[in-house]
Amino acid sequence: MTRVIRSPQEFKQWRRDQAGMTVGFVPTMGALHAGHESLLKRSRDECEISVLSIFVNPTQFNDPKDFEKYPMTWEQDLAIAEANGVDVVFYPRPEEMYSDGYHYKVTEDEFSKVLCGASRPGHFDGVLSVVMRLFNVVAPTKSYFGEKDFQQLTLIQGMVRAYFMDLIIVPVPTMREADGLAMSSRNLRLTPEQRAKAPAIYKTIKTAKSAAEAVASLTEQGFKVDYVTDLKGRRFAAAFLGDVRLIDNVQI
Ligand code: AMP
Repeated sequence: MTRVIRSPQEFKQWRRDQAGMTVGFVPTMGALHAGHESLLKRSRDECEISVLSIFVNPTQFNDPKDFEKYPMTWEQDLAIAEANGVDVVFYPRPEEMYSDGYHYKVTEDEFSKVLCGASRPGHFDGVLSVVMRLFNVVAPTKSYFGEKDFQQLTLIQGMVRAYFMDLIIVPVPTMREADGLAMSSRNLRLTPEQRAKAPAIYKTIKTAKSAAEAVASLTEQGFKVDYVTDLKGRRFAAAFLGDVRLIDNVQI
């Protein structure tokens, strides 16, 4: 049976009772799909106890409309947690995660300023600050992050090294739909026409000979391109279909 804990203090009490156990942790914003499930399966396989957190983190949304429209599928999420052997779902309240009023922040001032960080000011401060708080409550042995959000994964790995944090970050490959579209909770917000167009982002960044060629091709196909950038052996892209912002990245 999956247990749901809302209070950080109650979670810490439960965690103290698990001393000596390996704890796998998958932080999410809910609206779970097969991409999240692949992280949960890794945790289940590699750790004695699995914890999932569901928290639509207000501080990482630079666009309030994006925050308001973020999908919520609580009943289904709980069923997915049960099916994947999650022991505890940590589902904190914003006022408890940010009892300090978000006056304390974790800031990275280099890699967080490019790619998604350039067009979403404050986004990665919000991500790093909430992940630090979650790690301090959950105290995981291992925590699982998707390569779909490669910049986020890299920044969290850097934070763990910088602060001598005692856990292992495990990268998990991007899960895709049959047509190549990276699974994302935001895909639920695409209209049928946009959904039909969306796989082009992956195909284009994989096959274009340069980032500039990918930008031209995506624009031609009706995307509003935020960026396509080749960096550190990967090609990163973000593009809008309507007001839905999609991201992807591939090794080059
Ligand atoms: P989110 O709920 O979108 O914040 O994502 C929670 C975690 O799931 C993050 O580590 C994401 O990188 C990961 N994730 C989201 N989509 C996918 C996917 N398609 N494949 C693998 N991991 C994913």
